[in-house]
Amino acid sequence: MRYDRQIIIPQIGPDGQKKLEQSTVTVIGTGGLGSPVLTYLASAGVGTIRMIDCDVVSESNLNRQFLHLTEDIGKLKLQSAKEKLARLNPHIHLVMIDTKLELENSEELLAGSDVVVDCVDHLATRTAVACACIKLNIPLVEGGVEGFYGYVIDINKDSACLSCIGYDEAKQKTPVPIMGVTAGVIGSLQANECIKLLLKIGEPLFGRMLCYDGLSGSWDEIAVKKSESCSVHGENHHK
Ligand SMILES: [Zn+2]
Repeated sequence: MRYDRQIIIPQIGPDGQKKLEQSTVTVIGTGGLGSPVLTYLASAGVGTIRMIDCDVVSESNLNRQFLHLTEDIGKLKLQSAKEKLARLNPHIHLVMIDTKLELENSEELLAGSDVVVDCVDHLATRTAVACACIKLNIPLVEGGVEGFYGYVIDINKDSACLSCIGYDEAKQKTPVPIMGVTAGVIGSLQANECIKLLLKIGEPLFGRMLCYDGLSGSWDEIAVKKSESCSVHGENHHK
């Protein structure tokens, strides 16, 4: 009953639903992007969702991180997220990983995932995640938001990562300005890419960066190429 409306989609069907139930996805970050990603993956019936975060909920999170409520301020985000998601779908496994992901532990933390979804706002973490995913040959869904602007892109060993296109050198404002609704738009797209990758349907955003400008109400698709001098891709050539 729960999945009736998606099982009748020809590209999903009962086999696709079973595949989702047998899938393991790791989501890094349970905040502005993580809230829509986790909510839609849980409600779609992804069988095992691993969540990595070590932050606690603060009041300034609440304009965008809708898994967390006013009463959760001070609580571990993982705990807060798990409580809501378990109420939404009690039939899935929710794994809490209360650790900061860094280059040193990234492979260990991400191994065994069918897809990884990156929902952080920190460049060093993004780079560590991309390195590990390329090394482990796990498709990665990357998303980012600033103000009313955001992007989403899929990354693997054969397609451009953020370092390939120089994004790792980008200057980031701290704190990052974010409209909650923009994180909702981009996070929802990340969940959609994740489901496509799990089911091997549609055309994933490998080599294509989908950019959203909420102020002008427009989308751009930018073709991006893997760079031969990329350190993230390059490091793995030599290992
Ligand atoms: Zn690269």
